[in-house]
Amino acid sequence: MDTTKFLDEKPKIIFEKRFEQCPLCLEREFHPDGNIEFNEHKLEYSLCRRCGLKFLNPPIKKDGYVNIYKYFFWSEFDINKNKLKKISLKKGRAHNKAIYHSGMVSENISINEKTKILDVGSGYGYLLTELKKQYGCITHAIEPGEQAIAVLKESGIEHVGSDADIFFQENAGNVYDIICFASSLINFTDPVEILKGANRNLSDGGYVYIQINNPLARGGESLWHPFLMTQECLEFLLKKCGFKPIIWDFDPSPDKKSKPFKWWISVIARKEPVNDFELHHFNVEEYLERRKKGQANIRKTYQDKIYIREKRKSHPMV
Ligand SMILES: [Zn+2]
Repeated sequence: MDTTKFLDEKPKIIFEKRFEQCPLCLEREFHPDGNIEFNEHKLEYSLCRRCGLKFLNPPIKKDGYVNIYKYFFWSEFDINKNKLKKISLKKGRAHNKAIYHSGMVSENISINEKTKILDVGSGYGYLLTELKKQYGCITHAIEPGEQAIAVLKESGIEHVGSDADIFFQENAGNVYDIICFASSLINFTDPVEILKGANRNLSDGGYVYIQINNPLARGGESLWHPFLMTQECLEFLLKKCGFKPIIWDFDPSPDKKSKPFKWWISVIARKEPVNDFELHHFNVEEYLERRKKGQANIRKTYQDKIYIREKRKSHPMV
């Protein structure tokens, strides 16, 4: 498929109305928390003063994202599809991530050839490929990227949809044992809706596996991340959507140079009603102080960024 024409045009961004209430806890008081630029747009983040959810405000209309993910997102990485697949599955950061994710899932959840796993935002399907190889389980993927879909099919992974919101609405009752959001939950425009949708599509006692950026260490502000949240905020979100966190992990990133930073927060949570949970304590000033400490070694952070940029030239998935 030729995406060149599309890339010549700048992806269009359409905004929704500004949030008046926090989409997670319904608080009305926000703290302005920085902005990013994309093409001619300036995107602003708000930080909820009550629960600490950080979100693009105004939010971007979801329709715009669909096309961006379909044609634009992966094209950044898609230098040579076949070469990419060959390199990424055997070494490099994408491979390391696949090993990490599959380890988190298989070491904490019992898997066999009947286990039905859905990976949401699977990309090229590294996690599923790894699990399928080890356990022969049933692997389904939701992924909008055209290039990624082609690779999924070659890998024997069933591509069941391109839009998780629609899939979860239409397939309520299509039961999975595990649903994975490996670095994809914060890419959604409504984290509550998407997790409730996942809950409906899980067997009783089924699991979600989630990995998100740690905003206290790495930041993660980008067009791809309409939301950012700390561990405490993610825990609140999970409980609100009917999940009980079972295992937390903090991956310092697969790159040795990034070791001091716990860039990622991972969790496995079980589908079960959680009653009488309380909103965690959150204080904006305290949060900003923690973040300052987490990102204190700014020189090191820049070194990491330079390192990643250099790696990108030779390895498109970094
Ligand atoms: Zn809130």
